[in-house]
Amino acid sequence: MDHMRLPEQGRPEDEILDDLKQFSEDDPDYKHGRVWSLVYHLDQAHEDFTAAAYQQYSSANGLNPAAFKSLKRMETEIISTVAGLLNGGPDTCGVVTAGGTESCLMAVKTYRDMARAKRRVKTPNMIIPATAHVAWFKAAGYFGVKARLLPMTKDFGTDIKKLKSMINRNTVMILGSAPEYPHGTIDPIAEMGQIASEKGVPMHVDACVGAFILPFMEMNGIPLPEWDFRVPGVTSISADLHKYGYTAKGASTILYRDLDTLKHQMFVYQDWPGGVFASPALLGTRPGGAYAAAWAVLQKMGIDGYRELAAQTTAAVETLKAGINDTDGLRLLGNPQGPLLSYGSSDPKLNIFAVADQLEAQGWNVNRVQNPDGIHAMVTAKHNEVAETYVNDLKTAVASVRSNPDLANSGSAATYGMMAHVPLRGMVKTRVLDIFAEMYRAGGGHLDLDDSAKPSLLERGMARYVRWKSRRS
Ligand SMILES: *Cc1c(COP(=O)(O)O)cnc(C)c1O
Repeated sequence: MDHMRLPEQGRPEDEILDDLKQFSEDDPDYKHGRVWSLVYHLDQAHEDFTAAAYQQYSSANGLNPAAFKSLKRMETEIISTVAGLLNGGPDTCGVVTAGGTESCLMAVKTYRDMARAKRRVKTPNMIIPATAHVAWFKAAGYFGVKARLLPMTKDFGTDIKKLKSMINRNTVMILGSAPEYPHGTIDPIAEMGQIASEKGVPMHVDACVGAFILPFMEMNGIPLPEWDFRVPGVTSISADLHKYGYTAKGASTILYRDLDTLKHQMFVYQDWPGGVFASPALLGTRPGGAYAAAWAVLQKMGIDGYRELAAQTTAAVETLKAGINDTDGLRLLGNPQGPLLSYGSSDPKLNIFAVADQLEAQGWNVNRVQNPDGIHAMVTAKHNEVAETYVNDLKTAVASVRSNPDLANSGSAATYGMMAHVPLRGMVKTRVLDIFAEMYRAGGGHLDLDDSAKPSLLERGMARYVRWKSRRS
């Protein structure tokens, strides 16, 4: 195929900006609260402010913290602010990263290297909940640390009965989430921290999603279990700025209780012909704009701003929970205490993925979860404006599926059902890889879930059989 060529002559700026605007026409409508994941949007004024802060530092580079003193100052102040918010001690320190995944990857690398240096561990493992964010499975794959899973309890918490006996001399860390992504459940951090202390194993808390809302919910008087540095066994926490901090994309933090641990995250190569090199985290060039935007938004919001956003989020969550609870055939999955939740079907005749399709037909953009099947909602302050409409549309969607149960076997419901239920997981993995890779074929390829992933007769049969079996047991 012919590759795209740069324009022979550069084009006028306003024409290009118009192009960009046009490209976004088919994107999900997050500005009106229609999207229940991926985006944390408040309003245009906030986007403009964030962009203005970003713009001032969009060329600045945090690679060498000694060069841009402005960026190091912002990084120090951001980390110190987050440390205070999460009840860190006097030695709590950390690094600004480009996102939650980088923060999680760094924790695994840090504890792997620490165990290697201090205890000569050669075949490292870490003990993580089955509900841990997928970034932890990515870290396991990237860094060769075996993930040993804590199972889910009946109500989608983490079952820690076996935790103590699972820890062995090759265990480099244990993990809890506050909250976890699939159902919004907060893990039993205090109990896990106690075990971590007793066993002398580091414990990380993944608060990528929770760090900028749970503390403010607590200030608003909502009782929550302790999950941050107040728990003695907790040695590090990841906290995203670009989620409930409402900063520009590309900003997260990782904090450690002390510098001795953080040192194992750092990379130094003293013999490089390009010069002696030291780096605190994964990236080389570090985007100054994201730091400036994050610093600016923290200052703009202040405690009262974040408390107000948390209050609006809580109100939206309550509207959703009430709507789900009083809809026949739906059930909340577990006991979500934070800003996100999932719900599934309590009636074998009601297919929840078909409900998801009907919601999308009404202009909502939702995510699906599996084991068990469900619909996910990452609720933001903005959603308080649309929560009631969403609940009404949800009831309509449920009614449509009830009157036409065959919807379960068509559209993306069939595809998602197949992917969630086909027992040969290796087959699903290969299939997804093929579909995904297709998007990256030279020239862009395409992704059409309804088309390229349409389940074969065999897959449909297998998925149906599994659904039928599980209904009978
Ligand atoms: C979002 C999230 C992450 C990963 O963060 P990214 O910024 O998307 O890379 C990790 N853990 C949890 C619990 C999350 O919700």
